[in-house]
Amino acid sequence: MNRADYDAIVVGSGPNGLSAAITLQQAGKSVLLIEGKSTIGGGLRTAELTLPGFHHDICSAIHPLAAGSPFFSTLPLDQFGLEYIYPPVAAAHPFDDGTAAFLSPSLEQTANALGKDARAYLDLIRPVVNNWPSIAPDVLGPLGFPKHPLKMAAFGMKALAPAIAVAKRFQTREARGLWAGMAAHSMQPLTNSTTAAIALVLIANGHLKGWPIPKGGSQSIANALAAYFQSLGGVIETNRYIHSLDQLPSSKALLLDVTPKQLLQMAGYKFSSLYQWQLNRYRYGMGVYKIDWALDGPVPFRAEACRQAGTVHLGNTLEEIALSEQQAMSGIHSEKPFVLLAQQSLFDSSRAPAGKHTLWGYCHVPHGSRESMTEAIEQQVERFAPGFRDRIIGRHTMNSLDMEQYNPNYVGGDINGGILDIGQLFTRPALRRSPYRTSAKGIYCCSSATPPGGGVHGMCGYYAAKRALKDVLT
Ligand SMILES: Cc1cc2nc3c(=O)[nH]c(=O)nc-3n(C[C@H](O)[C@H](O)[C@H](O)COP(=O)(O)OP(=O)(O)OC[C@H]3O[C@@H](n4cnc5c(N)ncnc54)[C@H](O)[C@@H]3O)c2cc1C
Repeated sequence: MNRADYDAIVVGSGPNGLSAAITLQQAGKSVLLIEGKSTIGGGLRTAELTLPGFHHDICSAIHPLAAGSPFFSTLPLDQFGLEYIYPPVAAAHPFDDGTAAFLSPSLEQTANALGKDARAYLDLIRPVVNNWPSIAPDVLGPLGFPKHPLKMAAFGMKALAPAIAVAKRFQTREARGLWAGMAAHSMQPLTNSTTAAIALVLIANGHLKGWPIPKGGSQSIANALAAYFQSLGGVIETNRYIHSLDQLPSSKALLLDVTPKQLLQMAGYKFSSLYQWQLNRYRYGMGVYKIDWALDGPVPFRAEACRQAGTVHLGNTLEEIALSEQQAMSGIHSEKPFVLLAQQSLFDSSRAPAGKHTLWGYCHVPHGSRESMTEAIEQQVERFAPGFRDRIIGRHTMNSLDMEQYNPNYVGGDINGGILDIGQLFTRPALRRSPYRTSAKGIYCCSSATPPGGGVHGMCGYYAAKRALKDVLT
């Protein structure tokens, strides 16, 4: 094909790059999707990291945001091999006494298990669950005039608050701990404004769509998106890392699934000095330390709910979780880090040999950390599941710098493509009328460094492609 024949080129095949490519191809444009690595997927890859037959999710594992994505839900991904598995308990939260709070698909069941806090939980969560279908495209999109202003205002009043302030609605250790574990997905101190937002979104999606695991691993989401894109006529090239835009064929629009650091490296010379200055001021947040385990049996959790859960949050009380997140932000490696675990093989037998299991886990660490957190993380698992260590038969670890080397979008180990605080929630990567446009005509940013930010939902790519279609591809 003649190089000038592409209407659009997308660089980077993460969920946002794939979503941008699909949106453009669906509009009848010719699209080339370029990926630097040998496989597509970005944060959606699955590999045998430990032992043969053990299939681990290298990055994302649990997919409430994909299942609830307004864009993905318009796509026939089930016809392209994507099958979600729904664990009976979406997320469990064990305590030192062997009990656990949990998020189940049922709003009422979750609330009732919180005893004295049942009413407070329903008052906080039910309106978000009821309004979510109407407000999701606006919450998961750029700042603009919402289609349902009253419902958005009601959501915003709760979501913009610090999680720690919202927790005052609860009296019990169970409700406060469960809430803190959800809010800690924001990768910020729980005293920051907007940390309630991520908790509300994850909980509401848990009650509406569940927290599913893709059969075969998160790579199946990427494979389904890519197969659908190709069925529309889209072209994918892998093993082609782009250092400068000069390496690319010509196109009317260029969409880059990268964050400001690489935007500047690849395309800085095309940008105005103001835009370069804005990108240089972009802030990345704390990093992660990740472990994948091969086990010769399931994790022996004391609490039954944990043995039924796809995700387990290890942090005990709200106070402990808040301290661990504050420490990671302040450059301290917590002795009792908040740990996120996923137990895919309990519900998907294709993930490990018969009778064996995979376990996925990570904790938050200071930005750019090289320190090993293996001991601290395993101590946390052992604390709630005595005997865990005896079941380990293989282990693969990645510190924050390994994470960045694996995928340059995870700068300093920040898996959200930049901190999602109030200063960057809607104005990422820079304060502009459309955050997806760069200062150079026809060049767009479509990664999680644009609204709505991190997570596998494809909405950054979808909105960036819509912008490009309006601006330069009419
Ligand atoms: C350990 C971990 C756990 C996570 N857990 C979850 C989870 O359970 N659920 C969830 O929803 N989200 C999770 N996430 C977050 C999620 O994976 C990301 O937010 C999401 O993948 C971002 O998508 P993206 O398309 O913006 O970028 P990415 O997925 O990072 O994709 C970017 C792609 O661009 C390619 N690329 C970059 N630069 C170039 C270049 N110059 N040339 C060519 N190609 C290039 C990269 O190789 C990569 O394939 C997790 C992430 C990590 C790391």
